[in-house]
Amino acid sequence: TMAHSKALLVLENFIGGKFVPCSSYIDSYNPSTGDVYCRVPDSGKEEVEAAVKAAKDAFPIWSSKSPLERSQILNKLADLIEHELEAFAQAESKDQGKTIKFARTVDIPRAVYNFRFFASSILHHTTECTEMATMGCVHYTSRAPVGVAGLISPWNLPLYLLTWKIAPAIACGNTVVAKPSEMTSVTAWMMCKLLEKAGVPHGVVNVVFGTGAKAGEALVCHPDVPLISFTGSTLTAQRITEKSAPHCKRLSLELGGKNPAIIFDDADLTQCIPTTLRSSFANQGEICLCTSRIFVQRGIYSEFLKRFVAEAKKWKVGNPSDPTVDMGALISKEHLEKVRSYVKKAQAEGARVLCGEGVDSLALPTGNQKGYFMLPTIIAEVKDESCCMQEEIFGPVTCVVSFDTEEEVIGRANSVKYGLAATVWSSNVGRVHRVAQRLQSGLVWTNCWLVRDLNLPFGGMKASGIGREGAKDSYEFFTEVKTITIKH
Ligand code: NAD
Repeated sequence: TMAHSKALLVLENFIGGKFVPCSSYIDSYNPSTGDVYCRVPDSGKEEVEAAVKAAKDAFPIWSSKSPLERSQILNKLADLIEHELEAFAQAESKDQGKTIKFARTVDIPRAVYNFRFFASSILHHTTECTEMATMGCVHYTSRAPVGVAGLISPWNLPLYLLTWKIAPAIACGNTVVAKPSEMTSVTAWMMCKLLEKAGVPHGVVNVVFGTGAKAGEALVCHPDVPLISFTGSTLTAQRITEKSAPHCKRLSLELGGKNPAIIFDDADLTQCIPTTLRSSFANQGEICLCTSRIFVQRGIYSEFLKRFVAEAKKWKVGNPSDPTVDMGALISKEHLEKVRSYVKKAQAEGARVLCGEGVDSLALPTGNQKGYFMLPTIIAEVKDESCCMQEEIFGPVTCVVSFDTEEEVIGRANSVKYGLAATVWSSNVGRVHRVAQRLQSGLVWTNCWLVRDLNLPFGGMKASGIGREGAKDSYEFFTEVKTITIKH
């Protein structure tokens, strides 16, 4: 009804420095209440065309600015977002279902840091030079921005992952057309309001909202967008690869995971248990780096399980805006049903659900009865070939199994199609090195989880992705290199 729709937050595309309405909209839900609270433009070819044109027009001026000039603008933008950190955190929590605690301490601070980090790193790159004295030649490399970058991001860490692409793309001198997830578009729209004040020239950052099938694909297929940086599911990446193939586009693909934690009997459980709880259930288990297969050496298996389950039961699930809550709502009704269906499948196969879904009851505050909540769920006695041990669930569900030897566990950890992140728990340094070397995983954390140095490569092997992101890696992706030879 009209009366109802008046109260809704209505987003607009941001093209060429202006907010522009769209002819049709998509409903966006508040995951913690189940209510529609926002309308997101349902952009298509026409909107993408306008955004790409604006980005193309802005490229000559932006790409000719010095790294220092661009760096100053990125720092200003970081300051402006930081100044409104609380408003951004509230919006992210409401839009995504994540806890306000997580949005305040992880999502928004990291979005700010993404801009500061690339504002700094862009000042420190050097190119290569070699000499061929006998030929009287010197060779050197020169790097230049590529053009209009298409950036497509998922719903789990909305502003965090979008800025992780926007910052390096524009720091390198490209202009961008970004397409956030249609389920979590609000913080990207809020950021657009700060661009002018930060000094970002019109057309350098354009944001087109809408679905993957319409807006996303129009961007991927646009002939004037030579590079696509995508974070999302493996299935979507396959589609993007196909659609971009006729144009030979440069792709960076950050995809799903089925990440193992390997816990040897000499692990320090006082550190391992709380960290493995976080790695399993942080952000409702909706982080590509989340642990979902826990291999525990037989000697400590029952002790680990007992303590792990007892601690998981202490996690408080409820209204994400309550600062004492540890776990909020899942992104959507459909996703909640999908995650639940995995628990049912595991039970049907004879696995044991030790806590959470279907086992414990979940009491929710009155306003959250229709929200998309579930409890942290731990499953044991699952077969390695079971779908719960092979497929990415992307929710608060983790499987625990036992193992005997180092050799055995490496083989089992590697026996999935993914290869994003792994954690290894042991106090034996030699073993940690041996295991880390042999794991098919773009990232290996030992005796910790999600400790990141943004300078270093981030990304996955196998079905978890192609390419890496980081200070040097993102610089290389977002620039085109040329080798120049000079003879005297
Ligand atoms: P998704 O693939 O469904 O969507 C990601 C983005 O792609 C969205 O913006 C979506 O609208 C768009 N999209 C969908 N279809 C498209 C198409 N045909 N053409 C162009 N764009 C299209 O993923 P999701 O459900 O939003 O996110 C969850 C997935 O993301 C999980 O698999 C998770 O592991 C992965 N992820 C990976 C990383 C990483 O860094 N490796 C980080 C976060 C999330």
